[in-house]
Amino acid sequence: MEDCVFCKIIKGEIPSNKVYEDEEILAFKDIEPAAPIHILVIPKKHISSLIEVKENEIELIGKIYKTINKIAKEQGFAEKGFRVIVNCGEDGGQEVGHLHFHLLAGKKLGEKIIG
Ligand code: AMP
Ligand code: ZN
Repeated sequence: MEDCVFCKIIKGEIPSNKVYEDEEILAFKDIEPAAPIHILVIPKKHISSLIEVKENEIELIGKIYKTINKIAKEQGFAEKGFRVIVNCGEDGGQEVGHLHFHLLAGKKLGEKIIG
């Protein structure tokens, strides 16, 4: 999508601090971290939100969770623990209209993290 900030990050038009990348998935550091470790994991395919995920994209969502596990192990916070958050729509506090999974770690997380 032309005006999508995360699509621009995928295309390299906006810089990002990349943590992981493959053909289908990109992970990069959130610009305004809400925890010591705050990574955004996104599909390279533009899907506007969780509610827009189609039947044939379910496998991709599974791969995203697998990637989150991989990152957690590689970055060394898998044992201590982490939290995954997906904001969806206006009431969910979604600000960027490209599906993204917040991966938060590095401290004992409080009840209110984002929004
Ligand atoms: P949400 O409120 O769930 O839509 O979250 C959007 C997230 O994207 C926020 O945590 C922002 O800090 C983050 N964000 C927005 N623009 C960028 C960017 N250029 N690079 C990294 N993170 C960004
Ligand atoms: Zn996009």
